[in-house]
Amino acid sequence: MLPPDSHVHSQWSWDAPAGSMEETCVRALDLGLPSVAFTEHADLTPWTLGPGTKAPEEWGPLVVDEVLTPPPVDLDGYRECLERCRQRHPELRILSGIELSEPHWHPSRAEALLGAGSFERVLASVHSAPAASGFGFTEVSARYADQSPAQVVRAYLAETARLIEQFAPFEVLAHIDYPVRRWPAGGKPYDPYDFEEEYRHVLRCLAAAGKVLEVNTRVPLHPQVLAWWREERGQAITFASDAHDPTALARGFSDAAHMAEAAGFRPGRDPHDFWSRR
Ligand SMILES: [Zn+2]
Ligand SMILES: [Zn+2]
Repeated sequence: MLPPDSHVHSQWSWDAPAGSMEETCVRALDLGLPSVAFTEHADLTPWTLGPGTKAPEEWGPLVVDEVLTPPPVDLDGYRECLERCRQRHPELRILSGIELSEPHWHPSRAEALLGAGSFERVLASVHSAPAASGFGFTEVSARYADQSPAQVVRAYLAETARLIEQFAPFEVLAHIDYPVRRWPAGGKPYDPYDFEEEYRHVLRCLAAAGKVLEVNTRVPLHPQVLAWWREERGQAITFASDAHDPTALARGFSDAAHMAEAAGFRPGRDPHDFWSRR
């Protein structure tokens, strides 16, 4: 059996126009997933697009003076839809959730949202980086021509460690290797060993805080990062497709589960549980 998909977006995420909670549930049943968590985006930081950056056309209404302000989650609509899906598919465990972006920069907004939503799965993420003016997307891409890919990764991991130190009310750290998604072709290939010290620092903070590490399959997580998680006394992991449409649900999970097993983690007694260290 595949592990639960603990990080999925539906139409209730502002950047997932092709998302569908209903179709995702049907697909989860087809795939035999034990459960799925709809962790919609609460992107709390507005992004300055900067020269030469074009936002996709459908984001146009969100952009004012080159600043993209993501809208808040429609909690009422989300809840209603979730309840409808639960009633329609009682055989599937459907968790409510949220993906908080840079909650340590916006602690009162983040905590107010958690109070209003009482979510079953709370993910913390870093998607933003300080830019020349305001904040830009954390990506290794042409947008950061003034920074090397290695600098972007180091800055991202340092920000992630600050998040863990400064903001407590979350359960799972999302996509620890997020900037690698847009690693430029042609240059030096990504090698996690180049960032061993920085990864270990984040993992040590995360383990000390008693949190869970996510194995995100958008880019397969390098097995060495899981080996370091174990060495730094990390206890538990989740699996995450980070799907923004139903077809991407649980993508790469079979390989990820084998990788995690080889790295010393195993499913819980209950298929809904986090995987834990052997
Ligand atoms: Zn994310
Ligand atoms: Zn996500």
